[in-house]
Amino acid sequence: MVRAIYPGTFDPVTNGHVDIVERASHTVEHLTVGVVEVSSKRTMFDVDERIKMFSDAVAHLPNVSVKAYSGLTVNAAREIGATVIIRGLRITSDFEYESEMALMNRRMAEDVETVCLFSALQYQILSSSRVKEVAALGADVSDLVPKNVWGPLVERLEKRKASNS
Ligand code: ADP
Repeated sequence: MVRAIYPGTFDPVTNGHVDIVERASHTVEHLTVGVVEVSSKRTMFDVDERIKMFSDAVAHLPNVSVKAYSGLTVNAAREIGATVIIRGLRITSDFEYESEMALMNRRMAEDVETVCLFSALQYQILSSSRVKEVAALGADVSDLVPKNVWGPLVERLEKRKASNS
C-alpha cells in the first residue's frame, strides 16, 4: 500500500492545493495532507482552522485525511508510514525551492521519495499569500479558494481591518 503525505502551510487552502490533492489521491492508496503546526511564517489562521478548512474542502475524497504535524516532514512521513512526499510545482516560482527541499529530504531519508505534480494551467499564479493580499485590498477572488474558505477569509480580513483602525 503506497501512502503519501502532502505537506504545507495551507494558510488558507486554495483551489490549486485541492487540485493537487485530487490528482495525487488517484495515484496512491492513501494521502495525508500534513498541515504544518509550527511555521516560521506568521499565519492568518491557526492550525486547527487550517485543518478544518482543508478537511471540508476534500471531504469528497475517501482516501484523504488531514492532520497537523511539526518538525521535519520526513519524520512525519515515517510516522504515518508514507514513502512519498507530494509537492505541487508552479512553472515560474517553485522549481528551485522544491528541488533543494527534495534533495535535502532525500539526504535525510533515502526511503522517502518526493513526487512533484505540475500545477494545472489555471492555478499557475495562485498562492495563499496572493489570495490574502488581493482579498485584503477588496478583490473578489472567491473563485480561487474552496467555497468553505471564502467566508472565514473575508471575516478574518474584516476583523483585522477593524482592529487596525
Ligand atoms: P509551503 O510549503 O511553502 O508552506 P504552501 O502551503 O503554500 O507552501 O503549499 C504547499 C505545496 O503546494 C507546495 O508544494 C506548493 O508548491 C504547492 N502549491 C501551492 N500553490 C499551488 C498551486 N496554485 N498549484 C499547485 N501547487 C501549489
